[in-house]
Amino acid sequence: MAIKINIGSLNDGSQVLELKSDEKELGIEEGFLKEPVSIKLELFKTTHQLDLKAEISGIIFLECDRCLDRFEQKFSTSFQLVFVQQTHREEAFSEDDIRSYSSHMKSVDITTDIREAVILTVPMRKIPEEKPDGSCSWCGRTKEFWKDILSEKDDDNDND
Ligand SMILES: [Zn+2]
Repeated sequence: MAIKINIGSLNDGSQVLELKSDEKELGIEEGFLKEPVSIKLELFKTTHQLDLKAEISGIIFLECDRCLDRFEQKFSTSFQLVFVQQTHREEAFSEDDIRSYSSHMKSVDITTDIREAVILTVPMRKIPEEKPDGSCSWCGRTKEFWKDILSEKDDDNDND
């Protein structure tokens, strides 16, 4: 399965599609997503062009940088694409946000775009939200627990 938009039969005008997609369909490794992601597609079609805005939200599993516990994190992300119908003498082209399609194409596939947007939501710093007292909102461990681990790491750096 793949996430495709039937560009050939799409009527002019705007419409909104809401769908769900899972790891298997997106080609994402198992255990990355807690549940299928929600995808909202806003489409605006004119004679030779399709503007698309995708909003994706879901829950991913991350491993805490501090305590190595697996925790859940909600995400929401979005991207926009423009599909432009190529003229007969034109070669197909693809840039970051602009793609071309030929008048013979029945559909355009946005599975890879959705997958990349989901994977890019993984933050550099994988730490659950902290409570006001500085303890972890996920595992409840306190700053005192991490202090020992973190200060050891600092010592190691000094020896380099
Ligand atoms: Zn934690």
